[in-house]
Amino acid sequence: MIYLDNCATTFPKPENVIRSVCNSFKKFGANPGRGGHNAAMQSSQAVFEVREKVQEFFNAGEPENVIFTSGCTESLNTVIKGILKKGDHVVISSLEHNSVVRPLERLKKEGVITYDVAEVCECDHDKTLDNFRNKFNDHTRLVVCTHGSNVFGLRLPVERLAALCHQYGIKICVDAAQTAGVLPIDVKGDCIDYLCLSGHKGLYGPMGIGVLIINCDTVPMPLKEGGTGSSSLSLEQPDFLPDRFESGTPNLTGICGLGAGINFVKFKGTENIFKHEMNFLSRVYKMLCQNDNIILYTQKPDLNYHVPVLSFNIKGKSSEETAAILNRRFNIAARAGLHCSPLAHISMGTENTGTVRICPSVFTDYSNCEFLIKALKKI
Ligand code: PLP
Repeated sequence: MIYLDNCATTFPKPENVIRSVCNSFKKFGANPGRGGHNAAMQSSQAVFEVREKVQEFFNAGEPENVIFTSGCTESLNTVIKGILKKGDHVVISSLEHNSVVRPLERLKKEGVITYDVAEVCECDHDKTLDNFRNKFNDHTRLVVCTHGSNVFGLRLPVERLAALCHQYGIKICVDAAQTAGVLPIDVKGDCIDYLCLSGHKGLYGPMGIGVLIINCDTVPMPLKEGGTGSSSLSLEQPDFLPDRFESGTPNLTGICGLGAGINFVKFKGTENIFKHEMNFLSRVYKMLCQNDNIILYTQKPDLNYHVPVLSFNIKGKSSEETAAILNRRFNIAARAGLHCSPLAHISMGTENTGTVRICPSVFTDYSNCEFLIKALKKI
């Protein structure tokens, strides 16, 4: 199989990640933070070490600022539902995933908030920033913005956007689902208030683990309350981090796998991974450009303006049909449809067709490029 669906989740996973997940079952595996015996202490230590690793990797300040969640969706929901109050206004980009749009839409329907969408302009960060600025009003409390589109691969200038937000006293929440492990992210340096990410994509961890980094003093209300293994006599949820958000038994295997995934990414080098994936996509793009039957939606992949995600269609075929043939006849795994991001399709005019999406990983071989192009020619 040629796997080109790494935006959904990276596959295969590195050997050290598989080993680390297995070890968490085989070698220790007691409930972290729930006992004083050696096995529980070993689990707690493992969790703490990964917390420190995440903190260091994203320059998050203190390890306690790192909250383990079930994925980027939970991290985004925690921020959106946890800090917004009646009358607040939110600005999001035109490329947001449903994990941002759906919670906001519900709050809007309930009459709690209003929100506006700022159009992202490909290869023009200044214009994109102007579009955000033009949507701000006196009630704007939060900007939620993807770092890289999971459909069209457009990259957003989140560092500059964070600076702009702070000029207006607005908090920024960055969705790094597609960029964690692929682009450098400096939470403290770039003053990102909330960083949300998945562990199972560019960080090569298992599914079911995500991270929320909180880097400001507006701490959200937690989505859930329960046992944390701390302050157990108190009937109220602890207000200190990370316990405020980590009720219930932690996902020890996921956390261990995430730690090993970060080791793998550090070993390979974020910059090398990014260049490898962008080179692959540039080759694909160049070849697709020469075929009049292919519709491309973005400009040639550019390190400053794109992340390694490419969408296209074959004229006269639905995206689903193309992806189904790629799968059935050529054993190429690519995703078709709307990719859970309706706004991105509306802004590109592809809401009725969807797109076929290609996303490489560090494991993608350049020879796959020729095979993919030949397959598309045949289709
Ligand atoms: N945000 C973006 C841009 C995504 O691409 C995804 C998943 O593909 C998510 C959020 C949600 O991530 P998860 O499914 O890991 O919670």
